[in-house]
Amino acid sequence: MEKVRCLIIGGGPAGYTAAIYASRAALSPVLYEGMEPGGQLTTTTVVENYPGFPGGVDANALMADMREQAVRLGADVRRGTVSAVDLSCRPFKLTVDGSTELEADSLIIATGATARYLGLPSEQKFRGLGVSACATCDGFFYRKKDVAVVGGGDTACEEATYLAGLCRKVYMIVRRDVLRASVAMQERVKNTPNIEILWNCNTQEVLGDSSGVTGARLLRKDGEVFDIAVDGFFLAIGHNPQSALFAPWVNTDANGYIVTDGRSSATNVEGVFAAGDVQDPTYRQAINAAASGCRAALDAEKFLKR
Ligand code: NDP
Repeated sequence: MEKVRCLIIGGGPAGYTAAIYASRAALSPVLYEGMEPGGQLTTTTVVENYPGFPGGVDANALMADMREQAVRLGADVRRGTVSAVDLSCRPFKLTVDGSTELEADSLIIATGATARYLGLPSEQKFRGLGVSACATCDGFFYRKKDVAVVGGGDTACEEATYLAGLCRKVYMIVRRDVLRASVAMQERVKNTPNIEILWNCNTQEVLGDSSGVTGARLLRKDGEVFDIAVDGFFLAIGHNPQSALFAPWVNTDANGYIVTDGRSSATNVEGVFAAGDVQDPTYRQAINAAASGCRAALDAEKFLKR
C-alpha cells in the first residue's frame, strides 16, 4: 500500500498553498483535488482583490498557476476524490474514488465549503453572469447599479451593507418577516438608506437575457407575484463546509466547520490539520485560505520532524 508523508485533500487556494510549502519543506506532498479542481474561485470570473495583480486576474488562471507552482516545486497533484478516511490511528488510512487505498503520516484537510443556492434552473443559468454567492468577490462589478441579496442572516446583512457602499440600490429578499441576523447587523441594515428589505418574499425565477441578469421574479406570502429590476443577484443563505467525511474523528462546530486550535491549523486529532474555508466561517476569502494553507504545511512539517 502506498504511504504518503503529507497528504493534502482539496484543490483550492488552501490546498495548493499547503502543497507549495510542503514541497519546499521536502515533505513530498500528495494532493487530491476532488470534484472541483480550483475550488470555489472557479465559479467566479475576474479576481480583483488578490494582491499582486494590479489589473485583476482571471480566477481560473490564478488557480491553474497555483497548481502549476505546486507541481513545479515537486507536489504530486492528482485527480481524484478521497471517499473514505479512518483517522482512528496513525498512519491514517484513506480511500480514493472508492477503490485506491493509501496511508498518510499527516493529513491537511482543505476541502473548502460550498455556498448554498436556491436550486432554481434560472439561477444556475446565470451563475457568473450576474448570479454570485460572494459580494466581496463580485460586488465591484455592480458599482452604481441595482442588486438583490437573498437571505436574512448575518452574511446577508453584511453583504447588503457592503454592496450598499458600491451600488445604487440593494434589495434584500427575506423569506420571513424577521431577520435572523444579530441585532447589531440588523441595525446596520436599517440605518442604510439605499437598502430596501422585501419581507416575506421568495424568488421564483432569476430573469435575464444574453447580457446576464436583468431582474428577479418574486412571490410574496400574500400571493402577489412581482418583478424587480437588478443587474446582480447575490445569494447569502449560508455555506456548507465539506467536513462530513472527517466529522467522526475531527471536532466541528454547530455549523460543521472544523475546529482548529487557537491560531494554529491543528485539529483535535494529532497529525491532522485543517486549512481554508472548511475551518473558516468568517473570512472566506482566497487570500485567507492561501494563508491558512501555508500555516497548515508549516504545522505538518513541525509535526513530522518531531
Ligand atoms: P444563516 O444560516 O445564519 O442565515 C441564512 C439566512 O438565509 C437566513 O435568513 C435564512 O432564512 C435564509 N435562507 C436559508 N435558506 C433559504 C432559502 N432557500 N430561501 C431564502 N432564504 C433562505 O447563515 P449566514 O451565512 O448568514 O451565517 C452563518 C453563521 O456565520 C451564523 O452563525 C452567523 O451568525 C455567522 N456570521 C457572523 C458574522 C459576523 O458576526 N460578522 C458575519 C457572517 C456570518 P430563515 O431565517 O428564514 O431561516
